[in-house]
Formats: sequence, C-alpha cells, structure tokens
Amino acid sequence: MAEGEKRCRLVVVYHPDFAVHGYPALRERIAPAFEELRSRGILEGEGIRLLEAVPAEEELAEAVHTEGHIQGVKRSGYYRVALLSAGSVIMGAEEVARGRAEAAFCFTGTAGHHASRDGFWGFCYLNDVAMALLRLRREGMGKRVAVVDIDPHFGDGTRDILGGDPDVLHVNFHSGYVMGETDGPHNLDLVLPHDAGDARFLEAVEKAVAAAEEFRPELLFVVFGHDSHRDDYGAFELGDGVYREFALRLKRAFPSGVVYVLSGGARPHVARRAIGDVVEVLAG
Ligand SMILES: [Zn+2]
Repeated sequence: MAEGEKRCRLVVVYHPDFAVHGYPALRERIAPAFEELRSRGILEGEGIRLLEAVPAEEELAEAVHTEGHIQGVKRSGYYRVALLSAGSVIMGAEEVARGRAEAAFCFTGTAGHHASRDGFWGFCYLNDVAMALLRLRREGMGKRVAVVDIDPHFGDGTRDILGGDPDVLHVNFHSGYVMGETDGPHNLDLVLPHDAGDARFLEAVEKAVAAAEEFRPELLFVVFGHDSHRDDYGAFELGDGVYREFALRLKRAFPSGVVYVLSGGARPHVARRAIGDVVEVLAG
C-alpha cells in the first residue's frame, strides 16, 4: 500500500457484462442484486469502493487448467465471460491481499467451484479462486489461505486443484453428493441434509469458522452461493435472514482479509436480499 493511501473497508467488483453474457441461470439476478446495493445506499457509503472487473490473463487460465479444458471452455461460448469473472475475483483478492481493502465482494457471470484442472460443469468454466490464488502467489502473497465454500453443491473443482495443498484449508458445505477425490491435508466437508434449515446450517457455520480460526489463514475466500435458499435451485432450505447471520459470524472471527466470490443462485428476489445483506455487513 502506498504511503498516504487509505485502506478502505470494502471493495465491490462488478461488470455489467455479467448480467448480459453470464450463464443464463445465473445472470438474471445480477442487475437486480447490484441495483439493490445502490438502493440501500451501500455503494455511496464511506470506505466503500466500486471497481469494474477486467478479464484475467489467458495465461493464468492456462496455468491452472489443461489445454483440453481451455479448448472445451472456448467451444462453450463462455470463455470471455469466465475470464472476466475470474478477473473480478483476482481484482478483489489483490485489493485485500495488498492491504488496500479489508474485504471484497466479487460479482461473477459464471461460477468457478466445479471447474477442475481438466473438466467443468454446473455453470462453472474457470476456477476463479484457484486463478486468483496463483496470481497472488506469483506476487509473493497468499501463502496460507482458507476457502469456505457455502454453496450447497460439492466444490469438486476447487478440491481437485487446491485440496492437496498443505497451505490451503478447504471447507466445503454440501448435501451428500460427493464428487472426485476428497483426501487432503486440510479438507473439511460439512454434510447437511438436503432439507437443512437455518439452525443446521448455522451449526455447520460455527464448525467452519472454528476450523478457519485454527488454521490462521492470511486470506479467506468465501464461495458464496445463495442457491441454498428455499426459493432457489440447490439443496438446503435456508430462509431470508441466514446470509446476514453468516456474514456477521464470519466477520466477528475475521474482521479483515476476506474475499466473497459470488457462486450459485438464480432467483432475483433471493439475490437482492442475500447479496444486499452480506454486502451491508461487510460495509458496516
Ligand atoms: Zn451451487
């Protein structure tokens, strides 16, 4: 951080292309959720900076994924918006890792946690968190990192790429459908019933926070899917207030050094409330 430069409370990273070129199931919520931040007055608040995402370098995607993977993503038609989504996460992570912001919330148009080294599915094309971590490490940052994935689907891509890393804690909420390898030095799977409500979820959050506290990461990514809401498409039956409660509990343990990465979720009314509440907590 340059001398005299003031550390801000929160950066929000956004790009209007996410709402236009993002994966169809994910993109309808983007503009309403962003509008919600405006209507709550969050983006005009003191200590809040809004940044426009720029695409990640292709070389970074090529370093994380195989050649065949990249060719497949190019054929999908989502390569450009996946690079832009990863670029959003990289930008937020760099702001936090460099000490220019205490926290970041990164919008995306495609998700990342089902993108392995050599395979992708479930609206995920490039592993945004893995690309951001590689970028940070090349710059001498992000040595010890926690990834807390509260999207209700198993984060198989992140597990594939980062699960064996001795300096990564991967906490993975899911509803029992396990994919791929799960072994690794610091992997914690929190399995909840398919119809888990707020109480069960928050019990698991306590375990996740305790594990992260014990691990002492210098940076913590939250893979934030609100597809766990009862009105949205994923497992769990979470209610309206639970995402604020999650963000509050995490902030109590980690008041800084946290990067939220938007993951699953489709319904605009859910996104407005969930994203609005989380960003409001981070901005407070
Ligand atoms: Zn999901």
